[in-house]
Amino acid sequence: MSAEDRQSADTQEGNTSLTRRDVLKGFAVTTAAAVSAGMSAQALAADQASSATEVKNPYGGGPNTGITLPPYYRPTPSVANANTFFPGMEELGDDEMRISFIGSSPVPPTRAQAGTAIMVELGNGKRFFFDLGPGCFRNIVALQVPMQMVNDIFITHLHIDHYGELPYIYGFSAWAGRWKPLRVHGPSGRTPKDGIKAMIEGMKAMTHWHTDSFNLFPIGDGYEVEVNEFDYRDDNGICYDKDGVVIRHWRRIHGKDGASAYRLDWNGLSFVWTGDGRPDANTVKYAKGVDVFVTELQPDTMNVQTLKFGMPVEVLTPTVDVAHTVHYATGYMFKQVQPRLAMATHLAYDEELVPEMVAGVRTHWGGLFQFGAPDGVVVNVTKKAIWTRRAALPESTNFVRPSAKEAKELFDISLTKTTVDFPNPRHAVLTDIEDPATRALEIDAKKYYPPGVYRKPNPVFPKGFKIDIKKMVKDKIVQRIKSVFGADE
Ligand SMILES: [Zn+2]
Ligand SMILES: [Zn+2]
Repeated sequence: MSAEDRQSADTQEGNTSLTRRDVLKGFAVTTAAAVSAGMSAQALAADQASSATEVKNPYGGGPNTGITLPPYYRPTPSVANANTFFPGMEELGDDEMRISFIGSSPVPPTRAQAGTAIMVELGNGKRFFFDLGPGCFRNIVALQVPMQMVNDIFITHLHIDHYGELPYIYGFSAWAGRWKPLRVHGPSGRTPKDGIKAMIEGMKAMTHWHTDSFNLFPIGDGYEVEVNEFDYRDDNGICYDKDGVVIRHWRRIHGKDGASAYRLDWNGLSFVWTGDGRPDANTVKYAKGVDVFVTELQPDTMNVQTLKFGMPVEVLTPTVDVAHTVHYATGYMFKQVQPRLAMATHLAYDEELVPEMVAGVRTHWGGLFQFGAPDGVVVNVTKKAIWTRRAALPESTNFVRPSAKEAKELFDISLTKTTVDFPNPRHAVLTDIEDPATRALEIDAKKYYPPGVYRKPNPVFPKGFKIDIKKMVKDKIVQRIKSVFGADE
């Protein structure tokens, strides 16, 4: 079997309508059309050469400024390294917004792309998460954001690629010290069963074994969830209004009631994440003039995707046409919304399709455009400047401890209350949830510990445990003095 025959057979097995014969037929038609239009290769080249003079930078521009870049595309004052964002090494300006793409894939998650998730950080210290797609937690960890601080999660809709990481973060961050409820915001649906509240109840049921087992440790109210379920039909309604941050939502066309878009406004800066959906009038209306507009993009090249996935175009086309934005429409939406920065995410970042994606967007939009993909794209935004970089994400690291400011928020410590009082575990006795007969099978620790480091295993967390911060700080200062002046003095 020749390579060509094999490809033809593969195509037929994949049940697609695109056979080799069709391709050849199509090619013949295209060639015939070009010939009948009298367009020779030289004519095409001449046509393209003459059109080059017609392209203008919409912001004015000039030599060395490109044809799509505005003068405000430059680093903000807080940017320490113009090429790379090094996590944990840069303090956000007081008046600044930072948007990090911590997941960017619809399907499938890859090593370069987790499920869709966007983290927005503000100069007032607040942090928000828009969607929490599967696999995004490792990017949160790599960005050196403390696990305990993942909160205020806004879910656009309940497709798994937008919330698959939620049960994981819910299960572990309470153990790590988030003893306060998780705050999750999201839309209602056609029936109560379709809303975010019902999903959270389902998540609690699904994770019961995990949470019950972790109740051997201090958890406090960490397994409670404050669910803010808003009416998805309340277009442009406010679903968050606190500390000068206002978040609005509106419905999207995505094949089922409840899918929503979000717009965040703070300190004269704004951000929109549309979530998934068809190009729609609401988005044009409510996103108009936003600083950073992020929407989705599906290249309308289903014949190519068919060759990759083996799924017939008859499945791929309706998937896009019922629920998604084709790349031309992404550009069209940019033109209607007129943002300072237009961004596309929720796309498979197939390098070889990037030129086509850009070409599609450029059929309508001549302004500033960046991909929110693959993972690790970071955007700094002030009123005067916008700058995009990739983050240096370590291959392996660990979850970072909260800063002093974050610890204050987590543990309610202040000048007058300087102790962290650990909540008592719900299961103080191991035998509450484990059969003593199982534990009786445990091998004596003396058999595996070297004698010099032996300690008797203590599987029970003590009741009434406290950490005295004042004493901790004092000890640290004493230690520091000793290290400077020598231990003996
Ligand atoms: Zn999606
Ligand atoms: Zn979706």
